[in-house]
Amino acid sequence: MLAGICFLATAAFAQKTLIHCGTLIDAVKNEAQTQMTIVVEGKKITAIQKGFSTPTGTDKVIDLKTQTVMPGLVDMHVHLENETSKGGEMKRYQQNQADIAFDAAKYAKTTLLAGFTSVRDLGGSGVNLALRNAINKGTVIGPRIFTSGRTIATTGGHGDPSNGLSDKYTLDGQYLTGVVNGVDECRQAVRQRYKEGSDCIKITATGGVLSIAKNGKAPQFTEEEIRAIVETAKDYGFHVAAHAHGAEGIKRAVRGGVTTIEHGTFLDDEGIELMKKYGTYLVATIIAGKTVADSAKIPGYYHPLVVPKALETGPLVQATFAKAYKAGVKIAFGTDSGVSVHGNNAYEFQYMVEAGMPAMEAIKAATITPALIIGNQKELGTLEAGKIADIIATDGNPLQDIKVMRKVSFVMKDGVIYK
Ligand SMILES: [Zn+2]
Repeated sequence: MLAGICFLATAAFAQKTLIHCGTLIDAVKNEAQTQMTIVVEGKKITAIQKGFSTPTGTDKVIDLKTQTVMPGLVDMHVHLENETSKGGEMKRYQQNQADIAFDAAKYAKTTLLAGFTSVRDLGGSGVNLALRNAINKGTVIGPRIFTSGRTIATTGGHGDPSNGLSDKYTLDGQYLTGVVNGVDECRQAVRQRYKEGSDCIKITATGGVLSIAKNGKAPQFTEEEIRAIVETAKDYGFHVAAHAHGAEGIKRAVRGGVTTIEHGTFLDDEGIELMKKYGTYLVATIIAGKTVADSAKIPGYYHPLVVPKALETGPLVQATFAKAYKAGVKIAFGTDSGVSVHGNNAYEFQYMVEAGMPAMEAIKAATITPALIIGNQKELGTLEAGKIADIIATDGNPLQDIKVMRKVSFVMKDGVIYK
């Protein structure tokens, strides 16, 4: 009897939120719809209705009749622990984990308010795992985070955290820091990530721009090592993201079975064909390329070893993206934010459209495509009944002017309004 009363009481007070959408991009259809209503109950979307539905009882209405409503955006490549600054590499000597954590909490909030309700964080000190947990608990405001935890790299590789440091700063515990050599250590590092609570795996398959090291494109893993990482990752339900600039390292990563290639700057025709054959996604991070090229022109901004790499690599990324997209390579949206300022993520849409991708496809690359890669397409990525209520709105229609993706005026995550 008591249970019956409780049930009735809950049902009577179950409040619905009706979101009146002037324009709706649901990321399922290829066209926008006009004058639609999204019904949200608790964390979930329970219905999508034609017209502006009339509220009854305790229903709440959110008026977005002059806005364009779409699924919460997903950035597939961010670093929430850090943000670019002049001489920023000195932070490695100065910051403790607690300092990193407070900065990361700020960057997480900025990212969410820019309309990114989920991110894939591809590498940090491990604070990214704690940040994810704190956001899930509601202690910190930020996007839903899927993180690799620490990157896996080979000795002196792009993700080796002791690059450029004197030997008195060289970190102990190679497996913990993710510096590996040979297939056995590669497997062990993936298992270590599982133990620490990572959601996916990140490797640095070639040199990179911002590491204190000379070569930004040479391969840094053998194909055998990459295959060992991918096979082990599969055992734990992880996909693998490979940072890769040079053509040879990209090909090894693709043949080794990674799911996404990050940057892909020097991708050649053979690499394009391989990516299509294996169904590998490109996460180009065009904004990162443009940012490092600009910053490298400021004296003292980067370490002297970084400057020539940034000037060579940065300007090429957008053209590589254009070529790969036109050739039919699958694309997912990602920015490498942290390399650029957090909250500017949506500039990437503009750069993708400039490179020839239609606006609707660019929006899908940041909504349904990431959900498919992460494997949570039953809950995220589109606006449909049954999905989690991650919903944003822009002032203006991005299908007419992609720049309005930077004007996010409404953010709901898990049915909670943040903006
Ligand atoms: Zn990155």
